[in-house]
Amino acid sequence: MTSPRVEVNLGKIQANARYLVRRLGARRISVTGVTKAVCGHPDVAEAMLDGGVASLADARIKNVVRMRTAGITCPISLIRAPLLSEMEDVIQYCDASYNTEMDTILKLGAAAKEQGASHDVILMVEMGDMREGILQENLNDFAAQVIATPGVALKGIAANFACLGDVAPTGGDMAMLSRLADQVEGACGPFVDLVSGGGSANLPWALGDVSTGRVDNLRLGEAILLGTDPVTGHPITGLHTDAFTLFAEVIETSRKPSPAPTMSIAPELGMLNLVRSDDLRARTILAVGQQDTDASGLMFSPGTAFIGATGDHTVVDSAKAAVPVGSEMKMGMNYSALMRAMSAPDVAKVVHGKQKMNGSAKDREAHPFLTLV
Ligand SMILES: *Cc1c(COP(=O)(O)O)cnc(C)c1O
Repeated sequence: MTSPRVEVNLGKIQANARYLVRRLGARRISVTGVTKAVCGHPDVAEAMLDGGVASLADARIKNVVRMRTAGITCPISLIRAPLLSEMEDVIQYCDASYNTEMDTILKLGAAAKEQGASHDVILMVEMGDMREGILQENLNDFAAQVIATPGVALKGIAANFACLGDVAPTGGDMAMLSRLADQVEGACGPFVDLVSGGGSANLPWALGDVSTGRVDNLRLGEAILLGTDPVTGHPITGLHTDAFTLFAEVIETSRKPSPAPTMSIAPELGMLNLVRSDDLRARTILAVGQQDTDASGLMFSPGTAFIGATGDHTVVDSAKAAVPVGSEMKMGMNYSALMRAMSAPDVAKVVHGKQKMNGSAKDREAHPFLTLV
């Protein structure tokens, strides 16, 4: 089979989504499946929907168009602020978008009116991640301006954590978001329907035993796709961590001495280390590189260790077991490795478990965008 390739187990993605939808549903929190790490791959999106997610979200309009073209009709929101240069597409393909700039919202409103449509706006509030967000002290005024803008409706407020910074949200942060929802309603009147607390980094909080307050939605990518917590990288109990596997072909295998250790530690210890071992290690070169994935985010089976990677090569130490040229090695991926592999044109994507998915997807709803391929 063609290599490098990512093999996707749709059943595991569906099971992860179903587990999270059930656990969070018990706490009255809906799940939005985030598809940006798989470039809006329609089969992965369908697996999330079959697992029961209420809606989908992606950061790029191109990925949203890909899902719409494949026949996905559920609500889709744009989680990165829309570009002024893509307003028409945002109105046409997305039901809602996350925003932090009044100029953008005015243009969205104008584009919506032009298309005879209405567009939902969710305001992203700054809560410490210091990526995008409206400062809390400006939120009421901002919300009032959105309400006064024709063509758009204020749907809710949202927070974002652990994206730029690596800090998980606290119960205090979430309580603050609930208070902000009350405060916007107090100042502006209309009901704030959606209070979206954040992404997978919020799961320890959401599945814990503190009150969830007004938070009624999470936007989950990593937990559904990889079953891991983005802050710690640890697996989340109850979730599959092997829905995606990367395969690469071996192009060289040889026994080479381990590289002489560098003198980076105390000189006395360095002396000890400089005794060269004649223990030859099996070094294996894989035909996959930084151009295809984030090689430092690859996970190998026990007994195999990452040594380094360049644009087109990844070198691993396979201890004493030589891996024959032409054979394949399989690897797990962290979020960054997955994202790069799924967007790399030279990495094939092979999905398993599609037949079942298509059947249930057809039963779920009619497809006005359906195209035969
Ligand atoms: C990527 C992203 C998410 C999903 O984050 P995960 O950690 O993958 O769950 C949620 N919200 C926004 C705004 C994002 O950019």
